[in-house]
Amino acid sequence: MPRDVAPAEVMLKDVFGFDAFRPGQGEIVEAVAQGRNVLAIMPTGGGKSLCFQLPALMRQGVTVVISPLIALMRDQVRGLREAGVAAGALTSGNTEEETDAVFRALQDGSLKLLYLAPERLASGGAQRMLAQANVSLIAVDEAHCVSQWGYDFRPDYLRIGELRRALDVPLAAFTATADAETQAEIVTRLFGGDAPQTFLRGFDRPNIHLAFQPKDSPRKQIMAFADARRGQAGIVYCGTRAKTEGIARALREDGHEATHYHGGMEADDRRAVEERFATEDGLIVCATIAFGMGVDKPDIRWVAHADLPKSIEAYYQEIGRAGRDGAPAETMTLYGPEDIRLRRSQIDEGLAPPERRAADHGRLNALLGLAEALGCRRQVLLAYFGEAAEPCGHCDLCDTPPKTFDGTEAVRMALSAALRTGENFGAGHLIDILLGNETDKVSQRGHDKLPTFGVGKSLKRGQWQAVFRQMMGRDLIRPDGERHGALVMTDAALPILRGEQTIALRHDLVDRATDRRPAVRAMVSDEDAPLLSALKAKRRALAEAARVPAYVIFPDRTLI
Ligand code: ADP
Ligand code: MG
Ligand code: ZN
Repeated sequence: MPRDVAPAEVMLKDVFGFDAFRPGQGEIVEAVAQGRNVLAIMPTGGGKSLCFQLPALMRQGVTVVISPLIALMRDQVRGLREAGVAAGALTSGNTEEETDAVFRALQDGSLKLLYLAPERLASGGAQRMLAQANVSLIAVDEAHCVSQWGYDFRPDYLRIGELRRALDVPLAAFTATADAETQAEIVTRLFGGDAPQTFLRGFDRPNIHLAFQPKDSPRKQIMAFADARRGQAGIVYCGTRAKTEGIARALREDGHEATHYHGGMEADDRRAVEERFATEDGLIVCATIAFGMGVDKPDIRWVAHADLPKSIEAYYQEIGRAGRDGAPAETMTLYGPEDIRLRRSQIDEGLAPPERRAADHGRLNALLGLAEALGCRRQVLLAYFGEAAEPCGHCDLCDTPPKTFDGTEAVRMALSAALRTGENFGAGHLIDILLGNETDKVSQRGHDKLPTFGVGKSLKRGQWQAVFRQMMGRDLIRPDGERHGALVMTDAALPILRGEQTIALRHDLVDRATDRRPAVRAMVSDEDAPLLSALKAKRRALAEAARVPAYVIFPDRTLI
């Protein structure tokens, strides 16, 4: 072995057969091998498994790997054994012989990696067995499963912190979920609040083409997208179980190989679909989000969303299943006002506490901002994850920059209506005021006397909704979670309101809007409350000083 090569790199080649580390892997492997507590956040397909498998071989004793899915564990154990590594798993799917062999290897000290299903932690037996073995590291895969409000929550993950304290060994946690709250939850629950060394590896997946489309005729839009990619493996994510079946049927009728997958199916049937998808070429799976973590097919060529995902994180994870092999992959996400309403009510009717709900509305708002972005979509997506980027040249908005129009007057009218009603109302009521609709709510509150009453008649209701959505996406107004989505302004709105700054809106989105669109309800995160109350005081003063124009004169022309 040549002396000038680090042992990690030698093992990378000799054991795993890779020529070089992927970005970030080298540093993480080193920190984990040195026995640091580590939290590593890497996108799906970034190569997280290697970041604990390789250090496990560099350390003496055995590494315990906690992983949420039996299928993932089995795949990894198989791969490691093929590479000549002593690895075993203890899961409910084991035969007695398998379990005996694992116990023996653990006792005689030959086992290097022990994959453990989280349920095993619930029994005192497993904890005692581990206390007697020479455990030198705990690796937690899919660490976001410890987050109580995430959709992958696994209650048994909450026992991992206890195991770490009992064994008193370093812990390395891995996830692709980037948001700050989930990270904080991981640190609290897995590391007992002691900050681990954290690695955040770039979130860009340059081979994935990004695109959104307003939902017009969803079935047709999905069929057209699939048609242009005939024979390629793809996933269509759907909001409901019924829809997975309906779209799969339509695709089959159109000559595609397609099937459905959702949580209401028997475990055996689900496994059969996973198996088919992994082994068959060009199968399309129409699925709910239940088709998730276990899918690690490298050559998924496209992902389409028939319905809007629930948050920007969910969007990123779901499109991230495409193109793990690094070859070009395409995505397309449909969204419409019904999706927004559905997602909002799912959040409001969920079991999460109010502060969590407000944060979930914020994550949905971020996704809407992405859906209605003006410039490069990838730039907006990466900015959400805290990464600065140049326009990518590889998204729908870079391909065809959207036409814009000067929306300053419309935005000022909308802001003025919000301000003159004390920032106490949602888009629906504000639009009634702008349109001059004498609803009960309008007359009861005397809002028909406002100078802004009826000044916005040149736009249709749906067009106003498109204006409000874009204002929300641009963070000019935020829905207040505490007050049923009352819209409050942010600092960014003030220069526009005062006429010091102009704003461009997307022509296509306003142009497509029709009168049929339902109102948008919305909310805001709690962290914003102090900022907003300060802002509000400032703006009240502004309004009282009558510096806000009344907009009684609005040119009698449409905005587009
Ligand atoms: P993650 O868990 O981050 O989604 P995986 O650990 O499943 O990613 O790795 C994704 C794919 O990348 C796997 O097929 C793996 O073998 C491959 N891989 C990981 N590290 C490297 C590397 N350094 N060079 C080449 N391929 C790699
Ligand atoms: Mg993984
Ligand atoms: Zn772009």
